[in-house]
Amino acid sequence: MSEKIDCCVIGAGVVGLAIARRMALAGREVIVLETHAAIGMETSSRNSEVIHAGIYYPAGGLKARLCVAGKEMLYAYCAERGIAHRRLGKLIVATGDEELPILARYRASAAANGVHDLQPLSDEDAQQLEPEVRCAGALLSPSTGIIDSHALMLALQGDAEREGASVVFLSPVVSGRVENGGITLGVGGAEPMKITCRTVVNAAGLSAQAVAHAISGIPGSAIPPLYLAKGHYFTLPGKAPFSRLVYPVAGGGGLGVHVTLDLGGQAKFGPDVSWIEGVDYSFDESRAALFYQAIRRYYPELSDGALQPGYTGIRPKLSGPGKAAADFMIQGPREHGVPGLVSLYGIESPGLTASLAIAEHVAGLLDDGAGAKAK
Ligand SMILES: Cc1cc2nc3c(=O)[nH]c(=O)nc-3n(C[C@H](O)[C@H](O)[C@H](O)COP(=O)(O)OP(=O)(O)OC[C@H]3O[C@@H](n4cnc5c(N)ncnc54)[C@H](O)[C@@H]3O)c2cc1C
Repeated sequence: MSEKIDCCVIGAGVVGLAIARRMALAGREVIVLETHAAIGMETSSRNSEVIHAGIYYPAGGLKARLCVAGKEMLYAYCAERGIAHRRLGKLIVATGDEELPILARYRASAAANGVHDLQPLSDEDAQQLEPEVRCAGALLSPSTGIIDSHALMLALQGDAEREGASVVFLSPVVSGRVENGGITLGVGGAEPMKITCRTVVNAAGLSAQAVAHAISGIPGSAIPPLYLAKGHYFTLPGKAPFSRLVYPVAGGGGLGVHVTLDLGGQAKFGPDVSWIEGVDYSFDESRAALFYQAIRRYYPELSDGALQPGYTGIRPKLSGPGKAAADFMIQGPREHGVPGLVSLYGIESPGLTASLAIAEHVAGLLDDGAGAKAK
């Protein structure tokens, strides 16, 4: 079977769904192709569900710009669509005097990103807010929050479908070819078919590079290497000892083993960082020892045996161990030379926060002169 379509989005994670909604609202004919039988079965359901403020990312980069813009768009969208969320605030804690200068650097980088609401706290101030926390000083980020990421994805899917988009499950993109005036995708599954699309958005997350390599005509030199950094979460049953999110200073490929709360008030700790070769969500309980050590630096009362195994998630990174975190890479026709194609690589944190702003950015890439070549 063979079909022709205006716009095809590959991947029904939060980013693919946000893009599909944005394109459908603009009146485009949209189809979303998804390998799994449901939305958000990969990274979008295996994360911290934090609405990030935009503190850590180098000024001017995509992560910084899309996080700060995306945060505001997301809070507004949650309010408009009744998506469960809470603007809890977070403490970033220095666990010793030697970490205090890092807090000052965070304040400066946040300000450079347009985040001006961080409040420096003394150890006593921090303890007044969070009596269980021990630290040498802290920063309070009032605009950080939490969100029900599945409810967000359902709302995005609902909006897209109301505007005529279709999300097609069990439909992995397995091949493709760039042709004159479009891209033909080979779709596997029970009823394999070919779809010719005027525009394609590759939002396949951990598989974005594999999908790009499977489409002939995309220059290999434009496809970045992929590094996988797995993170474990342990949960803390019972009443959470904190009322805000608590983060140590960042390091080693992640934001440190932090405390987040879910909307039911349950605390979870994570994610740690371990570099892996292939996608594997298995849980390594032996990592608990490292968690107790890391958490007790700011929460010394954590009792032995309190942590329970939770889940894992995998960050699709563009830089490997020991390297500075790379920015999101969102390539339009100007970058890779293929009319009508946008490819998203390395959409790790803060991709959930930034999802609506990423969608806006992608729409801009497809609308600009280079994207228009595909028309
Ligand atoms: C441990 C961890 C913690 C995080 N915490 C936060 C946080 O607190 N706040 C925040 O803002 N961000 C956070 N993030 C980042 C955020 O989760 C991601 O940026 C976001 O979920 C990425 O969404 P996505 O749609 O790009 O990818 P995904 O959710 O992975 O979606 C990609 C989709 O593409 C599908 N797919 C793959 N290959 C194919 C194919 N060939 N054909 C069809 N479909 C295909 C997959 O099945 C999948 O559904 C975290 C990430 C991790 C790993």
